[in-house]
Amino acid sequence: QVRTRVAPSPTGDPHVGTAYIALFNYAFAKQHGGEFVLRIEDTDQARSTPESEQMIMKALRWLGLDWDHGPDVGGNAGPYRQSERAEIYQEYAQQLLDDGHAFYCFATPEELDEMRREQQAAGLRPKYDGRGLKHTAEEIEQRLAAGDPYVIRMKIPESGSFKFEDHLRGEVEIPWEQVDMQVLMKQDGLPTYFLANVVDDHLMGITHVFRGEEWLPSAPKLLQLYKYLGWDAPVLGHMPLLRNPDKSKLSKRKNPTSILYYQRMGYLPEALLNYLGRMGWSMPDEREKFSLAEMIDNFDIKRVSLGGPVFDPVKLDWLNGVWIRENLSDDQFISELHKWAFNEEYLRQMLPHIKSRVERFSQVAPLANFMYSGLLDLPETAFDGLALESEQLRKVLQFVSWEMDSLRHWDKEQIFPALKGLAKAMDVKMKDFMAPVFISIAGTTATFSVVDAMEILGPDLSRARLRQASQ
Ligand code: ATP
Ligand code: GLU
Repeated sequence: QVRTRVAPSPTGDPHVGTAYIALFNYAFAKQHGGEFVLRIEDTDQARSTPESEQMIMKALRWLGLDWDHGPDVGGNAGPYRQSERAEIYQEYAQQLLDDGHAFYCFATPEELDEMRREQQAAGLRPKYDGRGLKHTAEEIEQRLAAGDPYVIRMKIPESGSFKFEDHLRGEVEIPWEQVDMQVLMKQDGLPTYFLANVVDDHLMGITHVFRGEEWLPSAPKLLQLYKYLGWDAPVLGHMPLLRNPDKSKLSKRKNPTSILYYQRMGYLPEALLNYLGRMGWSMPDEREKFSLAEMIDNFDIKRVSLGGPVFDPVKLDWLNGVWIRENLSDDQFISELHKWAFNEEYLRQMLPHIKSRVERFSQVAPLANFMYSGLLDLPETAFDGLALESEQLRKVLQFVSWEMDSLRHWDKEQIFPALKGLAKAMDVKMKDFMAPVFISIAGTTATFSVVDAMEILGPDLSRARLRQASQ
């Protein structure tokens, strides 16, 4: 039975790239009557957060990409969160050690830095030099007994090259010389992506893996691990990465990349999914608008084209408009609009800020219109008349934008101190500092607290407005 998966790392906002990869894996599985798995790859303890995991699940569900097995729904090969599978990886790391395919390395980060510096000075490409392979069995035993920190690395053939059949690209050949002796188990006793990914794909019965092309250089290590462990590897295919309209890799500095942003902007999930389905793929009759069911019926992974697909928000707007006009009856339009932001929950969040400020209901819409808008079309003169002169104003907006990008949690207890700290660091009076922030977020200074507004608007739209204003 065909089984595919998407395996996001919960280290940030749910990325449209994750949805794109999920969609193609989903369509492939469903086209073959197979199953689709969600696995959370959270072995990077410092960067993974439960909030990010929740957001990824919410975003994929919103898009209608439901999983048959996953952390919240279970399945026969769980748990589906890698942080809960540490013992499983340890067992296989031990097996690799016992079979002579992996080895201990006790080198400290300082020693490795020194090694790289020397290699660079000699004009060589920095690469792990295999020093751990020289430890004697006795030395290893002693150092383990002494509790010295170590990692476990995989052995890599010394010469020749690795060839494999990429399902989308055909034969790919990578010289072993370019491949590092990858760390499999880190000092914290948790696996790296490589070991965990291979062990899980095997134990979870994954038959086909379609992942972003940034993983192509890792294919030799992964496939070699399957060999070492005596397992059949799944079919591998590397999808082209999404690009900005200027052809650079899609990045949040040029285009919003969070699925939640597109939700917040009021796109229909069907339209966003349709657009992602058009990234490198087309229907046999080239029609632009199609549903997920139609995509599955006509799906053929071999028709993915490898030229970088451009994710263009302008085209997405057009497609979303078509979906709205053609697919929503009046009743559905009303109910979708209601679900989007004209609902009680959203109004309730704004209520404390609105109720105290109005004397008539007819003042509510003017006061809150920016809470129902997307990006603001600020006129050139929007910042005229503020206390800061233009260069400093740009700087404030630029710094606020960066600072807000780097916040790990989005609530006013984080937002406010961050802004205050920045104002102090820039030696600008809080009132003068906040005025351009108000205008960027709300289009005016005459409204309720911008920090409250940002909290309610959410990180994605707030950041996008700040970024737009700072450019
Ligand atoms: P940004 O460049 O916007 O900061 P990023 O590369 O830091 O994004 P990650 O957090 O590394 O994003 O990636 C999150 C997920 O999104 C990963 O699974 C990654 O494969 C996927 N992803 C990131 N960029 C793209 C892209 N351009 N096309 C397809 N998938 C992508
Ligand atoms: N955790 C990896 C990522 O987020 C998974 C890559 C893969 O599909 O193997 O990109």
